[in-house]
Amino acid sequence: MMEIRQAAILCGGLGTRLMPYTRDLPKPMIPTNGRPFLAYLIDQLRDQGIKKFVLMTGYLANKVRDYFGDGSAIGVDIMYSEGPTEWETARRLWEARPMLERRFLLMYSDNFVPINLSRMVAFHSEKHSALTVSLCLKAAGNIRVDDKGIVRAYDSSRRETGLDHVEVGYMIAERDPVFSHLDGTNVSFSTVLRRLAVSGQLGGYRILDRYQSISDPDRWRAAERYLAPKRIIFLDRDGTLNVRPPRGEYVTSWNQFEWLPGARDGIVALAKEGFKFALITNQAGIARGLVSPATVDEIHSHLVADMSRLGAELITTYVCPHHWDEGCSCRKPAPGMLLQASLDLDLRLDRTIFIGDDPRDCEAAVAANCVAAYVGEPQDLTEMAEAVRPRLQARVLGDLCPEIISIFQSWATTDIRSMK
Ligand SMILES: [Mg+2]
Ligand SMILES: [Zn+2]
Repeated sequence: MMEIRQAAILCGGLGTRLMPYTRDLPKPMIPTNGRPFLAYLIDQLRDQGIKKFVLMTGYLANKVRDYFGDGSAIGVDIMYSEGPTEWETARRLWEARPMLERRFLLMYSDNFVPINLSRMVAFHSEKHSALTVSLCLKAAGNIRVDDKGIVRAYDSSRRETGLDHVEVGYMIAERDPVFSHLDGTNVSFSTVLRRLAVSGQLGGYRILDRYQSISDPDRWRAAERYLAPKRIIFLDRDGTLNVRPPRGEYVTSWNQFEWLPGARDGIVALAKEGFKFALITNQAGIARGLVSPATVDEIHSHLVADMSRLGAELITTYVCPHHWDEGCSCRKPAPGMLLQASLDLDLRLDRTIFIGDDPRDCEAAVAANCVAAYVGEPQDLTEMAEAVRPRLQARVLGDLCPEIISIFQSWATTDIRSMK
C-alpha cells in the first residue's frame, strides 16, 4: 500500500465572513487559543507521519510564511506556492503541481476533524479512486455516497435535495488522474470534484465524528473551545474500577461495588494531575431486567461521592442499557457513547484516552479515534486484532498513570508554539 507523506493545503482565501478579523491576517492564521488555526492541522498531520507540506498561499501570504518558515523548527518541511488573491482553488492547485508527489493529501485550511489517516489511505487504496473526500453527516449537505463508498452526487450549490453528507477537506488525491481534470482555468476546486463525481472517480470516506470549522465567527469560537486542551479521561467501570461480576451477573447495589487494587490509587494520582473523568459502561443487566435504571443511577451517585472524597471529579456517566441483540449504537464496541461524550464535553477524541479492561473497550476507543488503554493480563491481548490493540497496557489502572501523564505532556509540548 502506498503511504502518504505530503499534504498540500489551500491557504489563499480572503476569509470575507471573518472580517474584520481577517483584515490583517489570512483566515488560516486566525488565532485559536493563541495559535493559528492552521497550526492545529499541521500538528495533527505531522503526528500521523506527514512531513512534507505545500502551503498554497495568496491573501497576506507573508503572514503564513513569517510564522511557519521552512518548518524545520517543528520537524517538517514546508514549501510555498504563492499566487494572487484572485486565484480560485483549482488554479492554486494547478500552479503547485511541480511540488506535488504522486499521492498527496489535499486540505482546506478552515476545517478540522479527528481522522485516522492510515485507515483512510487503506480505504482509498481499496477503491482505486482518483480522489477520496472525507465526509461528515449533514442534513442538507452537498454529497450523496453509495454503500460502496463512491460519491454518486455532488452539488456544491446545495440545490439538490437528499444529499446527506458534506465534504470536510482531508482529501487523498492521486496527482495524475486528478490533474487530468484540471487545466489552469481560474475555477473553484468544487468544479473538479463535480467532474470526478460524474465520472465515478470520487471516493467518499465517512467520518463518524463531527467537524469543526472557522467559516464564520460563531463557528470559530466553537472550534476554539473544542480545540482547547482538556484533561478528561474516559473510564470503563466493571473490571477497570471495580471487581467485575461473573459473566451474566451485574452489580446491583453500591455494597457490591468493590474497588480493584490499584484503581483507586490511579484515580487519585490522575486527579492530582488535574484530570477529570467520564464513565462509559455497558449495563445490559437493565435490558435483561436484572438491575433497574434507578439502581444503576444510585450506584453512580455513590461512585461520584466516593471519588469526590478522593479528590477526583466524575463529571458524567454514560450507560448503555440495551441488550446485545438490540444492535444499538451505544453498546461498546460501538463508539456511540464516546461520540456523545465528545459532544457534551467539547472533547477532541484523538486527544482523549479511554481506559478499559475488555477488548470491546479497545475497539470502541479505536472506532472513536481515541487512545486505548487496557487494564488486564497481557496474554488476553494476544487474541486481539492488530488494528485494535491498545496503545497502553498494565495489570492495574494505577500502573498506567505515568504513561498517561507523559502522553498528555507530549501533546502539550509538541504543539506548534503560541503566536507572538
Ligand atoms: Mg469492563
Ligand atoms: Zn445501547
